[in-house]
Amino acid sequence: MNPEQYGEHTRAVHHAPPTPVLQRPLSPPVHRTTAFAFDSAQEMAEVFAGAPGWSYSRTDNPSAADFARAVADLEGAEAGQSFASGTAAVTAILVAFTSVGAHVVAPREVYGGTWGLLVNQLSRFGVATTFVDFSDIATVRAAITPATTLLWGEVLSNPTMAVTDLPALAEVARGAGIPLAVDATFASPAMCRPIEHGVDLVVHSATKYLGGHSDVTGGVMVGRSDLVARVRQVRIDTGAALSPDDAVLLHRGLHTLPLRVARQCATALEVARALEQHPAVERVDHPGLPSHRDHALALRLLDEGRYGAVLTVTPRGGRSAGMALVDRLQLIARATSLGGTVSKAVHIASTTHRMLTPEALAAGGIGEGAVRVSIGLEDPADLLADLEQALAQL
Ligand SMILES: *Cc1c(COP(=O)(O)O)cnc(C)c1O
Repeated sequence: MNPEQYGEHTRAVHHAPPTPVLQRPLSPPVHRTTAFAFDSAQEMAEVFAGAPGWSYSRTDNPSAADFARAVADLEGAEAGQSFASGTAAVTAILVAFTSVGAHVVAPREVYGGTWGLLVNQLSRFGVATTFVDFSDIATVRAAITPATTLLWGEVLSNPTMAVTDLPALAEVARGAGIPLAVDATFASPAMCRPIEHGVDLVVHSATKYLGGHSDVTGGVMVGRSDLVARVRQVRIDTGAALSPDDAVLLHRGLHTLPLRVARQCATALEVARALEQHPAVERVDHPGLPSHRDHALALRLLDEGRYGAVLTVTPRGGRSAGMALVDRLQLIARATSLGGTVSKAVHIASTTHRMLTPEALAAGGIGEGAVRVSIGLEDPADLLADLEQALAQL
């Protein structure tokens, strides 16, 4: 291109091609572009027909793809896809493996957003879901019918931190000849890699531990290449692409994932142990505690010393005590979500689980005063002191 031959406005928008970079950038570049230019019509036709290459960023973007591949490597998966949010990733899997008349089996405690998607949206397209108690694998097996096309699980449940017996669940799915997808958001690959236990597809809200700094919304799913390809097509068709800027921030989060998660889990266990002894506390749910129903499963399936960085504290005194505990915190933020650097607390019955009746809460093992605490990177003594001063005032 000879710039001299063009007018001012043309020269303002047409530039020489980017300088070829022969060395590898140490950090992933932000490929902030919506479209890619080709050298020939033939090359363009080939990429549109599926040859490796880039055409349009909703279809595929190198920054978004590099983040997904990095997560796939951490999980020991063949392939991965990234998404605009965790919910977008969950949606794409559910849509990819269901159609009119299909049936899904999911945990009774399934994440609220996933529950809403199944009950409020997919049901309108003729997809039925049975929610069962995943602590009883025989119940899960019994819920599967000839119409079942997908088994949905979670590594750790919200907020009681129930641990799923992944190898047993994988055997149920294999026996039924259907894929098993699990939401591993509460675990992250720095605690558990479900593919090692026979799971077909793993999905994360990258908004939580993977990003790790409470500043990016994103999602990712990984697994067997043929299954991932089906989910990628739904991502493209529903427009759920992750932005390149967010992909690079999430990718950066992965660098410190094991460091952050190991420390957050160690702090969570320390806080859980101390609060379990506190006279104002009725109950603490954390799988690292021998008192937790799934402690043995946690020791078997989760990495040593990393039993989750979320704990649920139920003070004596019911709903008002739970809300007062949250009100009196001075350091821990009154905020939802998890996995960030700053610790957060939420009164469960009035926020994330507000649609549940007192009976449904009780059936799920959630006290009316239960408070979920997501542990961040602060000094453990400071977090404990904050919780203790709040409990002392109840
Ligand atoms: C947050 C969360 C999601 C949804 O992710 P978003 O990024 O908020 O869309 C799904 N599953 C679990 C377990 C979560 O915690």
